[in-house]
This record gives sequence, C-alpha cells and structure tokens, in this order.
Amino acid sequence: MLVVGLDIGSVAAKGVMLDKGTMHRAMVPTGWSPRDAGEQLISELLELSGRERDQVDDIVVTGYGRIAIAGAGQAATEIKCHARAVAELYPSVGTIVDIGGQDSKVIRVNEQGRVIDFAMNDKCAAGTGRFLQVMANALGLDVSELGETEDPDKIVSINSMCTVFAESEIIGLLARGTSKAGIIAGLHQSVGRRVAAMVRRIGISGEVAFTGGVARNPGVFRALQEELGCRLIIPEECQFTGALGAALLGRSSNLI
Ligand code: ADP
Repeated sequence: MLVVGLDIGSVAAKGVMLDKGTMHRAMVPTGWSPRDAGEQLISELLELSGRERDQVDDIVVTGYGRIAIAGAGQAATEIKCHARAVAELYPSVGTIVDIGGQDSKVIRVNEQGRVIDFAMNDKCAAGTGRFLQVMANALGLDVSELGETEDPDKIVSINSMCTVFAESEIIGLLARGTSKAGIIAGLHQSVGRRVAAMVRRIGISGEVAFTGGVARNPGVFRALQEELGCRLIIPEECQFTGALGAALLGRSSNLI
C-alpha cells in the first residue's frame, strides 16, 4: 500500500510517503498558500519515490492548513496524528509534548496510541516556535542557531510572558550589554516553564516524547527536561511526526 501523510503547519509543510518498507520525506515552507504547499510536497514525494500519482492509495492531511486543502485527501487532527506516530515509534510513551510554529500541545495516550486527554496553547505565541522566531530575529540570529548559542550557566530570566513585551525586554537587555548567550538560555527557560506547567496540568504517564519543529532546538530540550525533571525522548525526525502519523492512519484507515 502506498500512502502519503501531509502536515500543513503554520510555518512548514511536511510530507511523508510510506512505500512498503521505505519512508520518503519532504518539507517546504507553507507560505501563503497551504494548497500549493501540499501540491509541492506531493510532487516532491513522487519524484523521490519514482511513483506516479495514480499509484497513491491514500492521502491523509493534518495541520492548520488541512481545511484549505480539503479534497486532496482525508483529514485528521494533529493530536491524533502525533499520538499515532509516537505509539508506533515508542510504545512506552504515555505523554507527548508537541511544540510547533503557532501552538504547543500536551497529549496523554494509552498503549494503543489512543488519546486519553490533551491540553493546547493556541491563543498566545508565548511557548511556541513563533515566540522563538521573533526573539531570534531581535537577536540577529536564525532560529536554528539559538540552541548552539545559549549559555545556561549565564541564564538571564526573561520576565515578560507576552511576545511583544519580551521582544522589547530583550532589546533593552542587549542595549545594556547583557550576554546574548544568557538571554537565549532565559528564553528557552521561559518556553520550558510555560510548557512544563501545561504538562503538569495533564499529568505524566509512562515516558515523555517531545515532537514538532521546536524539538530541533537543543536549548528548549535542555530547559524542558530541567523543568520537568525527567528524560525526554525526541524522535529522529521530530518535525515529521505529524506527517508520519497521518500516513500511518492512512495505512490503517483508522481516521477520526
Ligand atoms: P508548524 O507545524 O506550525 O509549521 P513545526 O512543527 O514545523 O510548526 O515547527 C516550526 C518551528 O520549529 C519554528 O517556529 C521554529 O521555532 C522551530 N524550528 C524549525 N527548524 C528549526 C531548527 N533547525 N532548529 C531549531 N528550531 C527549529
């Protein structure tokens, strides 16, 4: 069976094709058209696999842009997709933390990957990838450089919760000559604290997995582990977890 999972996120559109034992992956910026991003992913996956479009048995779409590309395939929620992928990769995981571009989520699952409970922060950018992108910009860095640039031994607490105020606070700190590496460690701590509070509301059971694009940031990984006081498992291709889950749901035809 040849299935495609698409995760059309607020920042990045990710695609996974499961072709018997092989997994192909593609990622493009979502840009202004979720539909175009979805089409581009399908083309790239077909090229990578050498398959034709009419050979694809099923396409399952998740992410914030899934509504915009209704018709391209069946839709599934991100929560269900992350749960499905993590259950496949790490059956011992009972709690999933997913931090993406515009929201963060905590999902509790049972051994079968069924969702028992979840919490979501999608009203405010604090504690999301967007917050880190805005701060990286204020610091003259790319978001991918934050993790390697931080210095947790010089941590500078960031007091503002709101993204707009935190950006002003950072500009003020930089003007006073405060260490950039310490500010970045403080930003990671702020995201870690906020997300850890959400984890405690939902509760930890079993092992804890960390998924989504922000799991690529080793500084947030460090801070979240410290705040939670437990080890986090990060899937190798953490940003593709939702797309993988969508493809797996397509393979088992186990949609909502
Ligand atoms: P969405 O599904 O909403 O598009 P993703 O799960 O793709 O979100 O995550 C996007 C976020 O991941 C970005 O806002 C950024 O903070 C973070 N990110 C992406 N690439 C990297 C990287 N190479 N290093 C660190 N953080 C990254």
